[in-house]
Amino acid sequence: MAKRVGGRRPAAKRRGGVPPGARKATRKAAAIGKMIYAFGGRRTDGRAALRDLLGGKGANLAEMARLGMPVPPGFTITTEVCAHVTEHDDYPPGLQAEIERQLARIETAMGRRFGDPDNPLLLSVRSGARASMPGMMDTVLNLGLNPQSVQGLIRTSGNPRFAYDCYRRFVQMFGDVVLGLRPEGTDEVDPFEALIEACKQARGVTRDSDLGADDLRHLADDFKRLVRQRVGRVFPDDPMQQLRLAIGAVFGSWKNARAASYRRLHAIPDHWGTAVNVQAMVFGNLGDDSATGVAFTRNPANGARGIYGEFLANAQGEDVVAGIRTPQQISRASAEARGADMGMSAAERRHRFPSLEESMPARYKELVRFARTLERHYRDMQDLEFTIERGRLWMLQTRTGKRTTAAALKMAVDMAGEKLIDRRTAVLRVQPKDLDQLLHPQLDRSGKPPLLAKGLPASPGAVSGEVVFSAEDAVAAAAEGRKTILVRIETSPEDIEGMHVAQGILTARGGMTSHAAVVARGMGTCCVAGCGELQIDYAAQRFSVGGRSVARGERITLDGGTGEVFLGVVPTETRQLGKDFGTFMKWADGFRRLQVRANADTPGDAAVALHFGAEGIGLCRTEHMFFQPDRIEAVREMILATTLAERQRALAKLLPMQKGDFLGILRTMAGLPVTIRLLDPPLHEFLPNTDAELAGIAADLGVAVATLRKVRDSLHEANPMLGHRGCRLAITYPEIYAMQVRAIVEATCELRREGVRVHPEIMIPLVATARELEVLRAEVVAAARDASARYTRTLQPPIGTMIELPRAALRAADIAQFADFFSFGTNDLTQTTFGLSRDDAGRFLSTYVMRGLLPVDPFVSLDQEGVGELIRLGVERGRSTHKALKVGICGEHGGDPESIAFCHRVGLDYVSCSPFRVPIARLAAAHAALRTDGVGGARASD
Ligand code: PEP
Ligand code: MG
Repeated sequence: MAKRVGGRRPAAKRRGGVPPGARKATRKAAAIGKMIYAFGGRRTDGRAALRDLLGGKGANLAEMARLGMPVPPGFTITTEVCAHVTEHDDYPPGLQAEIERQLARIETAMGRRFGDPDNPLLLSVRSGARASMPGMMDTVLNLGLNPQSVQGLIRTSGNPRFAYDCYRRFVQMFGDVVLGLRPEGTDEVDPFEALIEACKQARGVTRDSDLGADDLRHLADDFKRLVRQRVGRVFPDDPMQQLRLAIGAVFGSWKNARAASYRRLHAIPDHWGTAVNVQAMVFGNLGDDSATGVAFTRNPANGARGIYGEFLANAQGEDVVAGIRTPQQISRASAEARGADMGMSAAERRHRFPSLEESMPARYKELVRFARTLERHYRDMQDLEFTIERGRLWMLQTRTGKRTTAAALKMAVDMAGEKLIDRRTAVLRVQPKDLDQLLHPQLDRSGKPPLLAKGLPASPGAVSGEVVFSAEDAVAAAAEGRKTILVRIETSPEDIEGMHVAQGILTARGGMTSHAAVVARGMGTCCVAGCGELQIDYAAQRFSVGGRSVARGERITLDGGTGEVFLGVVPTETRQLGKDFGTFMKWADGFRRLQVRANADTPGDAAVALHFGAEGIGLCRTEHMFFQPDRIEAVREMILATTLAERQRALAKLLPMQKGDFLGILRTMAGLPVTIRLLDPPLHEFLPNTDAELAGIAADLGVAVATLRKVRDSLHEANPMLGHRGCRLAITYPEIYAMQVRAIVEATCELRREGVRVHPEIMIPLVATARELEVLRAEVVAAARDASARYTRTLQPPIGTMIELPRAALRAADIAQFADFFSFGTNDLTQTTFGLSRDDAGRFLSTYVMRGLLPVDPFVSLDQEGVGELIRLGVERGRSTHKALKVGICGEHGGDPESIAFCHRVGLDYVSCSPFRVPIARLAAAHAALRTDGVGGARASD
């Protein structure tokens, strides 16, 4: 768009010229309301509430002006006009006349005239959408300069170098942004920059600041010549034409490729459009009584109270952004702290880096006053831009400031304490997923570490260690106190020891719910999974990626929160969970309705879960209890047994181990429910792979290796995830669940005898039909009765089922008649609803997401439309026959904030997630209650 209004159209008449095509658009224009809102000077039409119409920048400039702050006068052309210009490639009727009226107002307020050869007014033209889109759209500064008005600027500034610098910057920016001299997407060297370089070389200087007024004047002329050659048109000297073209170009930048992809990534609708802000320029580079800077009303890194920020004396905005000069601190306290960090004496620091508080105390006080007012007004931390022009402070921008999670948490608690916000608002101020930043160490990326590869962010954390390719090497290294990253094509249960001792796990295959991912999350170990670019050569003990080869013993770093893999050791930083964290989480708990449990398989994991506030265990995967080497053998014997007697012998070995586990977990979770899922081993995770493993089991079972190999091969499944697992195993071998139930019941009875209050719940996996559950329930009841017979009272724990198959969700009404509770196993439910293998889909799902076929990986965030529909149906149908049915979720989605919001909406009772995600789930559940119901859940009134 904007080929006519912006870009390349002939000059419109100065003042009063009706743009061609304006009349044609009359009918449509009727739909547009007020097109321009003034701010600053004597009149302000806009206000913060008109953000949709004025964009964030325009609305906040108006609000600051309303609050009586010194805002350079200007006006905002609305987003509705953007829609019109985009559609009609022309101004709506009446806009040009209104712009001219506004311009006259600015001229009066500033006492300067646009294009005046004696005392020129210069303008900035900036974009400003509803949602912040930093750097995505265009800006033109110093508009209104031409060979005559630059003379006026020399006179008023008394500084020819300054004036010509403004001029050449203007020609450069205008040529670039408005006349399209550097089309987007070209790799060509910026031709303006090339001219600047040539000029510096000719002068024998290295810095732009070494160029003099004459150099800059010549550069401006050279730039204009370049425009004529490249664009085939004369650079417009008529200020009104400049303004018109610039407004068109800034509107047009809403549609540039950069902005469009930013919108796609941040889900910003295309029809919103941008507003355009036209504003009087003020200058921070007019001498030592001038400055420009950025301030936050509280420290955005740690949330500490008090103004925080940086400025540069005698400089303009770009200089602060460019970072060529070391900025000074605004407050004296931070200047002193910075000086001490740099090892400077107090006197040297004061001399070289005086704070604003010291160098311009009156302006500092004024700025602090405005900062306080704005923070109180917006009830949130503000990020301010300001300029001091010859001793006069101008406020250029205010917006809600970005902050770290630690800062967000502290600010939320502090502001609620200061009665600036209520607790509900405080709780909503921290995004659940951001809590990860606090719960795990973070990489310090300031040294710009070299990125090797990127996989799936399977389990958060930031760790470094030497590369090892086997669990044994990880164990051996750990014994010597060395830190390792276990690199595997994929992991299997025999890697568990290595996974336990390694700092981190990196796999080439596997998705977000693959073995490595699930186990690592459970253990709280950092893991990057499915890093498909990795070529792992176990024999050569090296992996290669992107032309680089990394050998065993070399160090790498993983960021499990982003999936990045770096070469070498990247330092990390950890934050302590302070008092504020506890206070904040207590407030959040007061609002949520959903209970939060944890998926934990060991007493250690259970203790972590309790520490993070879990209200029970929602999933104890009993097969995970068998990963240790001494146990996996017994499990293999059980699986490979060819007779009942063999199997019972193996089960007898497992019984005491299981009972010991249950004693530990139930004791840790005393007083809280613990859902124990009976065995659900996808067989391929447990079958012996190597001859040595086979030989060991053969010896134990007393059978020939060849016989055992045959048994193993006969158990091979093409699709083990859809195979002989879960309750299907128990239908064929009832003795397995009988052993487990006995272990649970004995552990429970013994603990109760000791006076420990324990609440086990028994859960049956992978049920597809009501008959399966009916049969297995009867068997579990019988086993529990038998096992408790030797204790004083019969024990009958609640018995529930996982809903992990579409059929189970559809037939939930029948199934619920045999279940005390449902728990949605959304890992399998996603796999089976999509017909995707959870172990392999990682290879292509990222392409689906990249190409927009799926909004997110459905194993990470619940597919609410499809899988969600089955959950909704399952809940409704289950409760239709069993009113009091308790319903939860224990798939990985139970720790994902979006999925938790969905669970809240469909009326689940609890979510269950890995221990480290419990705080995230607690906060997400509070947000869900606050957002969905407007008020907190049942506990809010407690
Ligand atoms: C599930 O399928 O969602 C689940 C929790 O069970 P698992 O991941 O152990 O198959
Ligand atoms: Mg499952």
